[in-house]
Amino acid sequence: MAKQIKAIRGMKDCLPGTTQIWQKIEGTLRDTMGAFGYQEIRFPVVESTDLFKRSIGEVTDIVEKEMYTFEDRNSDSLTLRPEGTAVCVRAGVEGGLLYNQEQRLWYMGPMFRRERPQKGRYRQFHQFGVETFGIASADIDAEVIILTARLWKSFGISDHVRLELNSLGSNEARAAYKEVLVAYLEQHKDKLDEDSLRRMYTNPLRVLDSKNPDVQAVVADAPKLSEHLDEESVQHFANLCERLDAAGVEYQVNENLVRGLDYYNRTVFEWVTESLGAQGTVCAGGRYDGLVEQLGGKGTPAVGFAMGMERLVLLLEELNSVGDIRRNVDVYVAAMGDVASIKAPAIAEELRDAVPGLRVQVHAGGGNFKKQLKRADNSGAVVALIFGEDEIANNAVTIKYLREQKEQLTLPMAEAHTTLAELVG
Ligand code: ATP
Ligand code: MG
Repeated sequence: MAKQIKAIRGMKDCLPGTTQIWQKIEGTLRDTMGAFGYQEIRFPVVESTDLFKRSIGEVTDIVEKEMYTFEDRNSDSLTLRPEGTAVCVRAGVEGGLLYNQEQRLWYMGPMFRRERPQKGRYRQFHQFGVETFGIASADIDAEVIILTARLWKSFGISDHVRLELNSLGSNEARAAYKEVLVAYLEQHKDKLDEDSLRRMYTNPLRVLDSKNPDVQAVVADAPKLSEHLDEESVQHFANLCERLDAAGVEYQVNENLVRGLDYYNRTVFEWVTESLGAQGTVCAGGRYDGLVEQLGGKGTPAVGFAMGMERLVLLLEELNSVGDIRRNVDVYVAAMGDVASIKAPAIAEELRDAVPGLRVQVHAGGGNFKKQLKRADNSGAVVALIFGEDEIANNAVTIKYLREQKEQLTLPMAEAHTTLAELVG
């Protein structure tokens, strides 16, 4: 046998059994976006490396060490997209969507980061994201958060995620705070780890969300960003909180929530779960009023978020809320004899016409009654539709329930349609 070729580390296949969960999630996401009047945008997987360097920031985990960057044959530096926001802005500017307009957009697709693979963290993973443009007021911040809360409700996981919220203030206020923070951190250098020492000058806010307990102890007594916010940002945050309260969306203010990307200002938020271990952030986002201009467009306020779809799948599996999503066949058609076998596909077609949504699989590969019923059972179908000489003669079918203790019945075709329609979920 030839040597087997394996998938790339951190890049997973999604096999039947799990694809059903993905389809269910994707369907709910699409429907919910429709319900809020958002439009889908699709963009390439490969972009200029500069796009990410300029937007995400040079001193971030992503740009420093996680990007899949390579040289094209003409020496251009290209990168597999590590996130969607910068790409969405690039596409929006290029496509003329953002100039003096409001947009409410969503996207879904694979992202690539060269991280250490572990549960909930992969090198190819998928994000569902929302980006809104052209609205500066806190009502839109509230809307994107309210729509995430609705998603959790649709997935039945509202009790297992909580919302953390913070304001990073204006760029000026944050710059002023950074100086105060660095001055404080300098006095406690001996207690900082290598990462924090490095970030202290390049990206000092990141020190605030360090996971290292020693660093956290230093951070606990650090000057607070909330005490250095500009008046407008304070107002904006209060307005957002008021709107979330009115909508019944609960949150906790986490003053150390800063997010890892450079482009955020004012609102930042994360939806966190305790059910997935270390990789507990399911969804994260915030406001990024400066990014459009930074990428060559006209200054345009913006707010959005991205959700890690693998983490959502894991969470649904963990909470056992996948139900019978995995079932993909309702009716298995078993044909007894050559005549029936030749007619079976037509019977199945008739059934699919008569009962929209009914999932009908027709036995293939021959074999006796016993073998066909075994296949029917393995298919996960709820009923086997048995079809032989007698049935053909009477234009009838026999329904055998495979999961319930119910009498087998032979019905005229039209009645069978009505009975089988009950199986459509
Ligand atoms: P983390 O702190 O977990 O590394 P992040 O801050 O890098 O997350 P973002 O860039 O904000 O994450 O991406 C938004 C969401 O995408 C995350 O909250 C998470 O659910 C998901 N995500 C990010 N990186 C990965 C990954 N390598 N594998 C799977 N999901 C990921
Ligand atoms: Mg990360």
